[in-house]
Amino acid sequence: MSAFETIIGLEVHVQLNTKTKIFCSCATSFGDEPNKNVCPVCMGLPGALPVLNQEVVKKAISFGTAINAQINQNSIFARKNYFYPDLPKAYQISQFEIPIVGRGNIEIEVNDKKKIIGVTRAHMEEDAGKNIHENDFSKVDLNRACTPLLEIVSEPDMRSSDEAIAYLKKLHSIVRFLGISDANMQEGSFRCDANVSIRPKGEDKFYTRVEIKNLNSFKFIQKAIEYEVERQRDAWESGKYDSEVVQETRLFDTIKGVTRSMRGKEEAADYRYFPDPDLLPVFIDESLMQEGRNIPEMPDEKRERYVKTLGIKESDAGVLTGDLDMALYFEGMIEEGASAKGAVTWLTTELLGRLKGENTLQNCGISYQVLATLVRRIDEGKISGKSAKDILDVLVEQKGGDVDSLIDSMGLAQVNDDGVILEIIDSVLASNQDKVEEYKSGKDKLFGFFVGQVMKNSKGANPARVNELLKQKLG
Ligand code: ADP
Ligand code: ZN
Ligand code: MG
Repeated sequence: MSAFETIIGLEVHVQLNTKTKIFCSCATSFGDEPNKNVCPVCMGLPGALPVLNQEVVKKAISFGTAINAQINQNSIFARKNYFYPDLPKAYQISQFEIPIVGRGNIEIEVNDKKKIIGVTRAHMEEDAGKNIHENDFSKVDLNRACTPLLEIVSEPDMRSSDEAIAYLKKLHSIVRFLGISDANMQEGSFRCDANVSIRPKGEDKFYTRVEIKNLNSFKFIQKAIEYEVERQRDAWESGKYDSEVVQETRLFDTIKGVTRSMRGKEEAADYRYFPDPDLLPVFIDESLMQEGRNIPEMPDEKRERYVKTLGIKESDAGVLTGDLDMALYFEGMIEEGASAKGAVTWLTTELLGRLKGENTLQNCGISYQVLATLVRRIDEGKISGKSAKDILDVLVEQKGGDVDSLIDSMGLAQVNDDGVILEIIDSVLASNQDKVEEYKSGKDKLFGFFVGQVMKNSKGANPARVNELLKQKLG
């Protein structure tokens, strides 16, 4: 089996989160009543003229900047001709020869090994509408027609499904951190076509690629790739490679876990691409270029900053910056005065560890302010870590709440008053004179006994203070 190498190249369609569509001023909102957000342009009525939405260009520039790509100041829209009921013009306006974003790079990490995946290009295009098949009817909803997409095409640089998933997750976080797409996979705002081929190890020629279309969950993408690799290997080993592995588009059946042929794959020439005569070439002037190039902190930079300035472990920083909401939640906690170490543990291990099923950081009802307060109370010694866990259980259970009131109502405040603690220490030592003598003559182990006794008699003394004061007392 190990005699083969897997080759994967990915095409990702990202829906850009502009308010209006790419070539008209209809709204892009998701889930509206069918055919509500349409006009002559996006319905493809003859004679209607497209006008480019500048926001789309700006977001594409930002993406190119984030992946260190070459950005083409001049690029061209082309017509890609094909017929679908949900594509009323019978062509899609896309970019072909000169895309807005040229060659760039995305760094991934798999099993602690870093690797650069090349991005061939990224281009702007319009989406199609949706066909809805219901009982005896097929209907067309054009709300999505003409919404802006950025299609990001990778080099065939990935060698395993794990690398493909790492690339997709990185790409997902880049567009989320840029704020150019909500990248919601269920709603189709981030969808992937996976191109898969195999070759005998050691060869550098590429064999026939199969394209698996419209995958919209990381889990299914991984399964689809793994199934397809198996299928191609089986075909090779049983001598049927040439008949069974052909250049085609396949669909992944998520229930059966298999890929199935959908149609033969067109070659670029079949689309009869030509420059769209209705649109001027795109020219990016200096000020738009600068606006687009002005991007927020990217996941890798954030990760480095967390390690360098907050002293967080590389692996924790990776987890925190793997998702924008998580990174912002964490930064909120730090701003509220939680220690970095406490914030990491209580966010990633304790809180996330308690969120099951549908519960997410966004809908769990526990704001970063609340979790930061919990961490601060631990940092201050007001409550023990053990009590904090009990409080967090309640917060998760009742979807939020006030930490300080819970400390009071659950009676979890630690005794931090040195006077009170010293009184208990004195009485413990007084009633254990014999042990005090033994301790002083070298039986160090008894220290733990004294701590235990003080804790037992104190109803929640701060153990750190107890240790400190006992040490002083016993000399
Ligand atoms: P198309 O739109 O016709 O699918 P693109 O150029 O947009 O063509 O995308 C082709 C994709 O297939 C790229 O991501 C590329 O890396 C990938 N690819 C090309 N050849 C192979 C191969 N032999 N095995 C796997 N992936 C490949
Ligand atoms: Zn419109
Ligand atoms: Mg393709």
